Amino acid sequence: MSVMNVRRLIPTTALAGAVALGLVSLSACAGTSDAADGDKGGKLDVVASFYPMQYLAERIGGGHVAVETLTKPGVEPHDLELKPKQIGALGEADVILYLKGIQPAVDEAIAQAGVKNTIDATTLTKLEAHGTEVGHDHGDEHADEHAEEEGHEGHDHGSEAGADPHVWLDPVKYAEVAKGVGSAFEKADPDHAADYRKNTDALVKKLGGLNTEFETGLKNTATRTFITTHSAFGYLAERYHLEQEGISGIDPESEPSPARMKELQEIAAKDKVSTVFFETLASDKTAKTLAGDTGLKTDVLDPLEGITDKSRGGDYIEVMRSNLTALKKALGAK
Ligand SMILES: [Zn+2]
Repeated sequence: MSVMNVRRLIPTTALAGAVALGLVSLSACAGTSDAADGDKGGKLDVVASFYPMQYLAERIGGGHVAVETLTKPGVEPHDLELKPKQIGALGEADVILYLKGIQPAVDEAIAQAGVKNTIDATTLTKLEAHGTEVGHDHGDEHADEHAEEEGHEGHDHGSEAGADPHVWLDPVKYAEVAKGVGSAFEKADPDHAADYRKNTDALVKKLGGLNTEFETGLKNTATRTFITTHSAFGYLAERYHLEQEGISGIDPESEPSPARMKELQEIAAKDKVSTVFFETLASDKTAKTLAGDTGLKTDVLDPLEGITDKSRGGDYIEVMRSNLTALKKALGAK
């Protein structure tokens, strides 16, 4: 762990206020989602790290779980800081569900929480390092490999293994994770195993349907290349045989180099790109700059790291369908 990650665990005074507004303490909030049936005492208390984990926990757990999410709606998850109180409360969860490598502060706190049923989603599917054939970098560098290869800078996903953590944006991989979460819930709460299995099967089927929609919708397009600010769509691109070109990576404030901008302009012209995508939780500045320089349109491609009022849909499936609509339009689907 780097010095930077340790620092993330100690909120500064300036941050404390923002954190307090954005994050409700775990103990105060346990059971709110299902408090109505008065069965709170019997519920499995699940802490989910961020939205894609929350969605799995809620879908699979149904009425038997009380889900608390560490990353509140609208908070950019990669740089999440936790309050000491939250870190302490983690230890009281029955199950912690997270995705290692995307939120360094969460990874550290969970490692220290000592909860028996800790589910790391990255162990439930196979992670890949996108856009590089140069080999794995398991050193202390924080830069994503796909970022390095594509030549853009400032793409820090906090991933120390160098693997791309954005597995949930591929419905097939997300279904694999769902199955693993289902099994883990069965083990943690055997009394409700049959329900967890039933809910998991239903979710896996739903994700299978979504995969078919993407396959069909993106089969025949004028171009296979899309440009996006946040290089979160490596798995999605690979699944549906598309090419993701990232502008500047995760940090919306980081300016792409003039060389990268020039390169992207050339790619846009060569591959007949029509649209530059940006995301809901970050600035659209670089996307608009590039689009303005090249006469392209801009649109939203949502990495689903959180759901807000601005999201194009109320849950994972709905927002993914909006992403498919946006991709079909941008790629010129026939
Ligand atoms: Zn991301």
